[in-house]
Amino acid sequence: MIVMKFGGTSVQDAAAIRRVIDIVRGRLPDRPLVVVSALARVTRLLVEIAGAQDPSEAMEALRARHCQVCRDLLHGPLLDETLARVEALCQSIEGLHDQPAVISVGELLSSTIVSAAFNQAGIPCRWADAREMVHVTGDRMSGRPDLDRIEADVRRVVGSSSELTVTQGFIASTEDGLPAVLGFEGSDYSAAIFGMSLGAERVEIWTDVDGIRTADPRYVPETCRIIRVSYDEAAEMARLGARVLHPMTIYPARTRQIPILVLNTANPSCPGSRVEQDSADGPKCVALLTDQDGREIGSRALAGEQAGMSLVSLIGRNLGDEERRVMEAVTGAAVSVAPLSLSAPVDAARAREMVTEIHNRIFL
Ligand code: ASP
Ligand code: MG
Repeated sequence: MIVMKFGGTSVQDAAAIRRVIDIVRGRLPDRPLVVVSALARVTRLLVEIAGAQDPSEAMEALRARHCQVCRDLLHGPLLDETLARVEALCQSIEGLHDQPAVISVGELLSSTIVSAAFNQAGIPCRWADAREMVHVTGDRMSGRPDLDRIEADVRRVVGSSSELTVTQGFIASTEDGLPAVLGFEGSDYSAAIFGMSLGAERVEIWTDVDGIRTADPRYVPETCRIIRVSYDEAAEMARLGARVLHPMTIYPARTRQIPILVLNTANPSCPGSRVEQDSADGPKCVALLTDQDGREIGSRALAGEQAGMSLVSLIGRNLGDEERRVMEAVTGAAVSVAPLSLSAPVDAARAREMVTEIHNRIFL
Protein backbone atom coordinates (compact mmCIF):
# COMPACT_ATOMS: atom_id res chain seq x y z
CA MET A 1 0.00 0.00 0.00
CA ILE A 2 0.96 3.64 -0.36
CA VAL A 3 -0.42 6.83 1.19
CA MET A 4 -1.11 9.80 -1.09
CA LYS A 5 -1.82 13.07 0.70
CA PHE A 6 -3.16 16.03 -1.24
CA GLY A 7 -2.84 19.49 0.31
CA GLY A 8 -5.32 22.35 0.10
CA THR A 9 -4.12 23.79 -3.20
CA SER A 10 -4.20 20.30 -4.76
CA VAL A 11 -7.96 20.11 -4.09
CA GLN A 12 -8.79 23.79 -4.32
CA ASP A 13 -11.29 23.55 -7.19
CA ALA A 14 -12.76 21.14 -9.73
CA ALA A 15 -9.79 21.38 -12.11
CA ALA A 16 -7.36 20.55 -9.29
CA ILE A 17 -9.51 17.62 -8.12
CA ARG A 18 -9.58 16.26 -11.67
CA ARG A 19 -5.78 16.31 -11.69
CA VAL A 20 -5.82 14.42 -8.37
CA ILE A 21 -8.06 11.76 -9.90
CA ASP A 22 -5.71 11.33 -12.86
CA ILE A 23 -2.68 11.03 -10.62
CA VAL A 24 -4.35 8.47 -8.35
CA ARG A 25 -5.68 6.50 -11.32
CA GLY A 26 -2.10 5.92 -12.43
CA ARG A 27 -1.20 4.55 -8.99
CA LEU A 28 -4.16 2.21 -8.35
CA PRO A 29 -1.96 -0.93 -8.56
CA ASP A 30 -0.05 0.41 -5.53
CA ARG A 31 -3.30 0.37 -3.49
CA PRO A 32 -3.32 3.98 -2.33
CA LEU A 33 -4.97 5.42 0.74
CA VAL A 34 -5.90 8.98 -0.28
CA VAL A 35 -5.68 11.61 2.47
CA VAL A 36 -6.99 15.11 1.77
CA SER A 37 -6.73 18.53 3.33
CA ALA A 38 -9.53 21.06 3.32
CA LEU A 39 -9.87 23.10 0.11
CA ALA A 40 -7.29 25.90 0.06
CA ARG A 41 -8.08 28.71 2.54
CA VAL A 42 -11.10 26.90 4.00
CA THR A 43 -9.47 26.18 7.37
CA ARG A 44 -8.86 29.91 7.75
CA LEU A 45 -12.48 30.63 6.90
CA LEU A 46 -13.60 28.10 9.51
CA VAL A 47 -11.41 29.71 12.18
CA GLU A 48 -13.22 32.95 11.37
CA ILE A 49 -16.61 31.21 11.56
CA ALA A 50 -15.80 29.64 14.95
CA GLY A 51 -14.85 33.03 16.36
CA ALA A 52 -17.45 35.28 14.73
CA GLN A 53 -20.43 36.92 16.44
CA ASP A 54 -22.29 36.77 13.19
CA PRO A 55 -20.75 34.20 10.85
CA SER A 56 -23.56 34.32 8.29
CA GLU A 57 -21.47 35.86 5.50
CA ALA A 58 -18.59 33.45 6.03
CA MET A 59 -21.03 30.53 6.22
CA GLU A 60 -22.50 31.60 2.93
CA ALA A 61 -19.03 31.70 1.37
CA LEU A 62 -18.32 28.21 2.75
CA ARG A 63 -21.53 26.78 1.28
CA ALA A 64 -21.16 28.53 -2.08
CA ARG A 65 -17.57 27.44 -2.56
CA HIS A 66 -18.23 23.75 -1.88
CA CYS A 67 -21.52 23.59 -3.77
CA GLN A 68 -19.83 25.15 -6.80
CA VAL A 69 -17.08 22.51 -6.78
CA CYS A 70 -19.76 19.78 -6.51
CA ARG A 71 -21.63 21.21 -9.51
CA ASP A 72 -18.44 21.44 -11.54
CA LEU A 73 -17.49 17.83 -10.86
CA LEU A 74 -20.64 15.79 -10.40
CA HIS A 75 -23.98 15.20 -12.03
CA GLY A 76 -27.13 13.14 -11.60
CA PRO A 77 -27.98 11.41 -8.32
CA LEU A 78 -24.37 11.62 -7.11
CA LEU A 79 -24.56 15.41 -7.36
CA ASP A 80 -27.80 15.57 -5.37
CA GLU A 81 -26.52 13.18 -2.75
CA THR A 82 -23.23 15.05 -2.35
CA LEU A 83 -24.92 18.46 -2.19
CA ALA A 84 -27.14 17.12 0.59
CA ARG A 85 -24.06 15.89 2.49
CA VAL A 86 -22.34 19.26 2.03
CA GLU A 87 -25.43 21.04 3.32
CA ALA A 88 -25.68 18.73 6.35
CA LEU A 89 -22.02 19.31 7.21
CA CYS A 90 -22.47 23.08 6.95
CA GLN A 91 -25.57 22.92 9.12
CA SER A 92 -23.73 20.87 11.73
CA ILE A 93 -21.53 23.86 12.63
CA GLU A 94 -24.24 26.51 12.52
CA GLY A 95 -24.03 28.44 15.81
CA LEU A 96 -21.11 26.33 17.05
CA HIS A 97 -18.08 28.07 18.59
CA ASP A 98 -16.04 25.03 19.53
CA GLN A 99 -12.96 25.61 17.35
CA PRO A 100 -11.76 22.01 16.83
CA ALA A 101 -15.31 20.92 15.97
CA VAL A 102 -15.83 23.74 13.49
CA ILE A 103 -12.50 23.49 11.69
CA SER A 104 -12.76 19.70 11.32
CA VAL A 105 -15.57 20.31 8.88
CA GLY A 106 -13.13 21.56 6.22
CA GLU A 107 -11.62 18.12 5.75
CA LEU A 108 -15.00 16.39 6.08
CA LEU A 109 -16.29 18.56 3.23
CA SER A 110 -13.30 18.12 0.94
CA SER A 111 -13.10 14.35 1.44
CA THR A 112 -16.84 13.99 0.80
CA ILE A 113 -16.49 15.80 -2.52
CA VAL A 114 -13.27 14.06 -3.55
CA SER A 115 -14.64 10.58 -2.85
CA ALA A 116 -17.80 11.37 -4.84
CA ALA A 117 -15.60 12.63 -7.67
CA PHE A 118 -13.71 9.33 -7.79
CA ASN A 119 -16.97 7.43 -8.00
CA GLN A 120 -18.23 9.77 -10.70
CA ALA A 121 -15.02 9.15 -12.63
CA GLY A 122 -15.62 5.41 -12.51
CA ILE A 123 -13.14 4.61 -9.74
CA PRO A 124 -15.07 2.87 -6.94
CA CYS A 125 -14.16 4.63 -3.76
CA ARG A 126 -15.24 4.63 -0.16
CA TRP A 127 -15.06 7.40 2.39
CA ALA A 128 -13.51 6.66 5.77
CA ASP A 129 -13.80 8.85 8.85
CA ALA A 130 -10.33 9.69 10.22
CA ARG A 131 -11.89 10.52 13.59
CA GLU A 132 -12.56 6.81 14.07
CA MET A 133 -8.90 6.04 13.52
CA VAL A 134 -6.79 8.94 14.76
CA HIS A 135 -7.06 9.10 18.55
CA VAL A 136 -5.38 11.90 20.42
CA THR A 137 -4.84 13.11 23.97
CA GLY A 138 -4.07 16.57 25.31
CA ASP A 139 -4.91 19.87 23.66
CA ARG A 140 -7.74 19.39 21.14
CA MET A 141 -6.18 21.95 18.77
CA SER A 142 -2.86 20.10 18.65
CA GLY A 143 -3.61 16.62 19.85
CA ARG A 144 -0.94 14.07 20.70
CA PRO A 145 -1.60 10.87 18.74
CA ASP A 146 -1.92 7.58 20.61
CA LEU A 147 0.01 5.58 18.03
CA ASP A 148 -0.75 2.06 19.30
CA ARG A 149 -4.50 2.59 19.26
CA ILE A 150 -4.31 4.35 15.93
CA GLU A 151 -2.40 1.56 14.28
CA ALA A 152 -4.97 -1.06 15.26
CA ASP A 153 -7.87 1.10 14.05
CA VAL A 154 -6.27 2.15 10.77
CA ARG A 155 -5.57 -1.48 9.96
CA ARG A 156 -9.13 -2.40 10.85
CA VAL A 157 -10.77 0.39 8.84
CA VAL A 158 -8.44 0.75 5.86
CA GLY A 159 -6.09 -2.21 5.77
CA SER A 160 -8.61 -4.82 4.76
CA SER A 161 -10.41 -2.84 2.05
CA SER A 162 -9.76 -3.70 -1.56
CA GLU A 163 -11.50 -0.51 -2.68
CA LEU A 164 -9.81 2.86 -2.94
CA THR A 165 -10.30 4.70 0.36
CA VAL A 166 -10.40 8.46 0.83
CA THR A 167 -9.97 9.90 4.30
CA GLN A 168 -9.08 13.20 5.97
CA GLY A 169 -5.81 14.62 7.14
CA PHE A 170 -5.59 16.90 10.18
CA ILE A 171 -8.68 15.68 12.04
CA ALA A 172 -8.87 13.31 14.98
CA SER A 173 -10.90 12.60 18.10
CA THR A 174 -10.27 12.39 21.82
CA GLU A 175 -10.89 9.44 24.09
CA ASP A 176 -14.27 10.95 24.94
CA GLY A 177 -15.13 11.15 21.26
CA LEU A 178 -14.72 14.93 20.99
CA PRO A 179 -13.41 16.38 17.71
CA ALA A 180 -9.74 17.36 17.75
CA VAL A 181 -7.05 18.29 15.22
CA LEU A 182 -3.31 17.67 14.92
CA GLY A 183 -2.34 21.36 14.75
CA PHE A 184 -2.46 23.69 11.76
CA GLU A 185 -0.87 22.23 8.62
CA GLY A 186 -1.14 18.84 10.31
CA SER A 187 -2.30 16.81 7.31
CA ASP A 188 1.24 15.75 6.45
CA TYR A 189 1.54 14.40 9.95
CA SER A 190 -1.71 12.46 9.50
CA ALA A 191 -0.38 10.99 6.26
CA ALA A 192 2.78 9.77 7.98
CA ILE A 193 0.74 8.27 10.82
CA PHE A 194 -1.47 6.41 8.32
CA GLY A 195 1.64 5.27 6.46
CA MET A 196 3.24 3.98 9.63
CA SER A 197 0.08 2.18 10.70
CA LEU A 198 -0.26 0.43 7.36
CA GLY A 199 3.44 -0.27 6.92
CA ALA A 200 3.07 1.59 3.62
CA GLU A 201 5.68 1.30 0.91
CA ARG A 202 5.90 5.09 0.77
CA VAL A 203 4.05 8.25 1.74
CA GLU A 204 3.52 10.75 -1.06
CA ILE A 205 2.91 14.37 -0.05
CA TRP A 206 1.34 16.11 -3.06
CA THR A 207 1.66 19.85 -2.93
CA ASP A 208 2.15 22.85 -5.24
CA VAL A 209 5.94 22.92 -5.53
CA ASP A 210 8.46 20.56 -7.15
CA GLY A 211 9.69 19.18 -3.84
CA ILE A 212 11.87 20.56 -1.06
CA ARG A 213 14.17 23.41 -2.08
CA THR A 214 17.78 24.23 -1.23
CA ALA A 215 16.68 27.49 0.43
CA ASP A 216 13.54 29.45 1.18
CA PRO A 217 12.40 30.69 -2.27
CA ARG A 218 10.99 33.84 -0.70
CA TYR A 219 14.52 34.95 0.18
CA VAL A 220 16.75 33.26 -2.36
CA PRO A 221 15.75 34.01 -5.96
CA GLU A 222 17.07 30.86 -7.58
CA THR A 223 16.80 27.61 -5.60
CA CYS A 224 17.25 23.98 -6.61
CA ARG A 225 15.16 20.91 -5.91
CA ILE A 226 16.65 18.60 -3.27
CA ILE A 227 16.57 15.12 -4.76
CA ARG A 228 17.27 13.08 -1.63
CA VAL A 229 17.45 14.09 1.98
CA SER A 230 17.66 12.07 5.18
CA TYR A 231 14.98 12.04 7.88
CA ASP A 232 17.35 13.94 10.17
CA GLU A 233 18.09 16.61 7.61
CA ALA A 234 14.42 17.04 6.73
CA ALA A 235 13.49 17.26 10.42
CA GLU A 236 16.16 19.91 10.89
CA MET A 237 14.84 21.89 7.93
CA ALA A 238 11.29 21.73 9.23
CA ARG A 239 12.47 22.78 12.67
CA LEU A 240 14.27 25.77 11.15
CA GLY A 241 11.14 26.91 9.37
CA ALA A 242 10.99 25.13 6.00
CA ARG A 243 7.30 24.95 5.28
CA VAL A 244 7.03 22.08 2.84
CA LEU A 245 6.66 19.37 5.46
CA HIS A 246 4.99 19.61 8.86
CA PRO A 247 7.81 19.12 11.42
CA MET A 248 6.19 16.09 13.07
CA THR A 249 5.80 14.21 9.79
CA ILE A 250 9.26 12.69 9.91
CA TYR A 251 8.88 10.74 13.15
CA PRO A 252 6.18 8.18 12.32
CA ALA A 253 7.76 7.60 8.91
CA ARG A 254 11.16 7.02 10.42
CA THR A 255 9.94 4.45 12.96
CA ARG A 256 9.09 2.12 10.06
CA GLN A 257 11.66 3.44 7.58
CA ILE A 258 8.95 4.58 5.21
CA PRO A 259 10.20 6.98 2.52
CA ILE A 260 8.34 10.27 2.12
CA LEU A 261 8.10 11.80 -1.34
CA VAL A 262 7.23 15.45 -1.86
CA LEU A 263 5.56 15.83 -5.25
CA ASN A 264 3.83 18.53 -7.29
CA THR A 265 0.19 18.03 -8.34
CA ALA A 266 0.61 20.64 -11.08
CA ASN A 267 3.75 18.93 -12.40
CA PRO A 268 3.33 15.21 -11.64
CA SER A 269 6.14 14.02 -13.88
CA CYS A 270 8.71 15.82 -11.74
CA PRO A 271 10.29 13.22 -9.41
CA GLY A 272 10.15 15.63 -6.45
CA SER A 273 12.16 15.12 -3.26
CA ARG A 274 12.65 11.88 -1.41
CA VAL A 275 13.08 11.79 2.36
CA GLU A 276 14.53 8.53 3.67
CA GLN A 277 17.00 7.05 6.09
CA ASP A 278 20.16 7.89 4.23
CA SER A 279 21.15 10.61 1.84
CA ALA A 280 24.27 11.50 -0.05
CA ASP A 281 26.92 13.43 1.84
CA GLY A 282 27.18 17.16 1.49
CA PRO A 283 25.00 20.21 2.02
CA LYS A 284 21.26 20.00 1.36
CA CYS A 285 20.12 23.51 2.11
CA VAL A 286 21.02 26.81 3.64
CA ALA A 287 18.73 28.44 6.17
CA LEU A 288 18.71 31.84 7.77
CA LEU A 289 17.37 32.24 11.25
CA THR A 290 17.08 35.17 13.49
CA ASP A 291 16.32 35.54 17.13
CA GLN A 292 17.82 37.63 19.88
CA ASP A 293 18.69 34.51 21.83
CA GLY A 294 19.88 32.61 18.78
CA ARG A 295 17.11 30.10 19.30
CA GLU A 296 15.40 28.28 16.49
CA ILE A 297 13.10 30.49 14.49
CA GLY A 298 12.43 30.11 10.80
CA SER A 299 13.60 32.56 8.22
CA ARG A 300 10.09 34.06 8.25
CA ALA A 301 11.19 36.10 11.26
CA LEU A 302 13.39 38.05 8.91
CA ALA A 303 10.45 40.05 7.68
CA GLY A 304 11.38 42.75 10.18
CA GLU A 305 13.81 45.60 9.57
CA GLN A 306 16.66 44.10 11.55
CA ALA A 307 17.84 40.58 11.52
CA GLY A 308 19.13 41.11 15.05
CA MET A 309 21.30 38.22 16.03
CA SER A 310 21.47 36.19 12.86
CA LEU A 311 22.33 32.62 12.26
CA VAL A 312 23.14 31.00 8.97
CA SER A 313 22.75 27.28 9.03
CA LEU A 314 23.93 24.82 6.46
CA ILE A 315 22.12 21.52 6.70
CA GLY A 316 23.48 18.23 5.44
CA ARG A 317 25.64 15.24 6.25
CA ASN A 318 29.41 15.51 6.48
CA LEU A 319 29.80 19.14 5.63
CA GLY A 320 33.42 19.78 4.94
CA ASP A 321 36.18 22.25 4.28
CA GLU A 322 34.71 23.53 1.06
CA GLU A 323 31.46 24.57 2.74
CA ARG A 324 33.41 26.17 5.57
CA ARG A 325 35.45 28.18 3.06
CA VAL A 326 32.29 29.43 1.38
CA MET A 327 30.68 30.42 4.67
CA GLU A 328 33.84 32.20 5.80
CA ALA A 329 34.33 33.99 2.52
CA VAL A 330 30.80 35.34 2.56
CA THR A 331 30.46 36.23 6.21
CA GLY A 332 34.07 37.15 6.92
CA ALA A 333 33.96 35.16 10.15
CA ALA A 334 35.88 32.07 11.16
CA VAL A 335 33.23 29.39 11.29
CA SER A 336 32.76 25.83 12.15
CA VAL A 337 30.23 24.70 9.62
CA ALA A 338 26.61 25.22 10.57
CA PRO A 339 25.13 26.91 12.34
CA LEU A 340 27.08 30.09 12.10
CA SER A 341 26.33 32.68 14.67
CA LEU A 342 27.16 36.19 13.55
CA SER A 343 28.71 38.29 16.28
CA ALA A 344 27.22 41.59 15.21
CA PRO A 345 23.61 42.25 14.30
CA VAL A 346 23.12 42.29 10.55
CA ASP A 347 20.31 44.14 8.86
CA ALA A 348 17.68 42.05 7.18
CA ALA A 349 18.66 42.98 3.64
CA ARG A 350 22.33 42.15 4.20
CA ALA A 351 21.42 38.87 5.90
CA ARG A 352 19.36 37.86 2.87
CA GLU A 353 22.18 38.77 0.55
CA MET A 354 24.54 36.62 2.57
CA VAL A 355 22.31 33.62 2.47
CA THR A 356 21.78 34.01 -1.27
CA GLU A 357 25.53 34.27 -1.82
CA ILE A 358 26.29 31.19 0.26
CA HIS A 359 23.49 29.34 -1.48
CA ASN A 360 24.60 30.26 -4.96
CA ARG A 361 28.24 29.43 -4.42
CA ILE A 362 27.39 26.01 -3.03
CA PHE A 363 24.39 24.96 -5.07
CA LEU A 364 24.37 26.76 -8.40
N1 ASP B 1 -6.45 22.15 6.61
C1 ASP B 1 -5.49 22.21 7.70
C2 ASP B 1 -4.78 23.54 7.70
O1 ASP B 1 -4.93 24.33 6.78
C3 ASP B 1 -4.52 21.08 7.68
C4 ASP B 1 -3.61 21.02 6.48
O2 ASP B 1 -3.97 21.48 5.41
O3 ASP B 1 -2.53 20.45 6.61
O4 ASP B 1 -4.06 23.84 8.63
MG1 MG C 1 0.53 21.72 4.13
